[in-house]
Amino acid sequence: MPPPALYGKRHREIANSLWRIVAEDRLPQTLLFAGPEGVGKATLARHLAAGINCDLGPCEPCGDCSACRRILAADLSLESFKRQLAERRKLPAAKRAEAPLVIATYTDVLIFPPDGPMQIIGIDQAITLRNAARLSPSEGRRRIFIIEHAERANAEAANALLKTLEEPAPNLTIVLTSENPYLLPATIRSRSVPFFLPALTRDEMAAFLERRQDIGEEVREQVATWSQGSPGVALSLDAEEFLRRRDTMLALLGTALSRGEFAQLIGKLDKIARRESEGIEALAVMIASLLRDLLRLHLGVDENLTHRDIRDELERLASGISFEWTARAIEALDELEQMRQRNIQKQIALEAYALALQR
Ligand SMILES: [Zn+2]
Repeated sequence: MPPPALYGKRHREIANSLWRIVAEDRLPQTLLFAGPEGVGKATLARHLAAGINCDLGPCEPCGDCSACRRILAADLSLESFKRQLAERRKLPAAKRAEAPLVIATYTDVLIFPPDGPMQIIGIDQAITLRNAARLSPSEGRRRIFIIEHAERANAEAANALLKTLEEPAPNLTIVLTSENPYLLPATIRSRSVPFFLPALTRDEMAAFLERRQDIGEEVREQVATWSQGSPGVALSLDAEEFLRRRDTMLALLGTALSRGEFAQLIGKLDKIARRESEGIEALAVMIASLLRDLLRLHLGVDENLTHRDIRDELERLASGISFEWTARAIEALDELEQMRQRNIQKQIALEAYALALQR
C-alpha cells in the first residue's frame, strides 16, 4: 500500500516542516492539527506516525514495511472501522466503560476517537491514555497517540488529558485533531503546537476526485463544490443522500420563513429522522452550509457558494431573510447541538429548531 498521498500543497508544506523538526529531533510533545472536517488531519497524523516508526525512517513513510502498513491501516474512515464503531455505539455505557475505545494496529500508535451515541471522548479513554503514556516504545522509535476530534473530550477527560500534557513523557508525541480548536480548553491549546490544514483548492480537489471513477464527471464537479475542499467529505459523499438531506433541511428553513405548511414539514422531518444514518450533526452541518449561502446571497456575494446548483431557489429564500433571523438560526444550531448531547429524539429536536426560527 502506498503512503496516503497528501493532496493539498499546504498540507505537503506542513508535512515537510514536520520532517525537518523530526530530523532535528525536536518534535514537540503535543501537536494540534486543526482544520475543516475531512480535510486530512488524521491522515497527516498517521503519515507522521508511520514515517517516524518506518523501518527506513525516520523519514517519509515508505508504505511497504510492516510498521508503515500497520500504522497507515488505522484509517477510521474505512468501512470496516465505521461498522465497528457504529456497533459500539449501540452498547450500554457500562459495557463501553469496561473496555475504553482505543484503536491500535501498531503497539506504539494509539488512536482515541470519540465514542458512544453522544460521540464524546470520556474519562475512561483519558485514563487509558494517561497510563499508556507512562510506557516506553516497545517496537518503534516513538509513541504517537492521536486524539481525534479532541474538542469532544468532556470536562473530566480534558482535565485528565491536561495532567498528561503537564508531565511530558519521553519518546511520546500526542497529536490532537480538531475542527473547532477554540472549543478546546485554553490550557490544552496553549500546550500544543498548532498547524492549520486549510480546505483544498478547486484544482487540488479536481485532482483528488479523479480517483472517484464510480461517479460521472458532472456529479464529480458537484461533489467537489459540495464538499468545500474536504477530500474526506468528498470521498464518502453519497450524492443521493446529500440531496435528500438538503431537500429536507431546505424545506425546514423555507417553512420557518413561512413559505410552506408546517404540517407538511413534520412529515418530511419524520421521514429523515427515521433514517439511522442521518445524525443530527450531519443535518446541522447541512443547515449551517445553507445558512452560509443564504447570507452570502442576501449580501449580494455570489462567490464560493456551496449550493450553486440551486442558486435560484436560495436567492428567493435569501430575499426573505434578515441579519437578525440568520443570527437566530445560527444561534439555534447551538441549541440543536445541546439537544443532541442530551440525547433528545431527532424528530423532536428538529421540530424545536424549526419552531425557534418562527418565533
Ligand atoms: Zn515504512
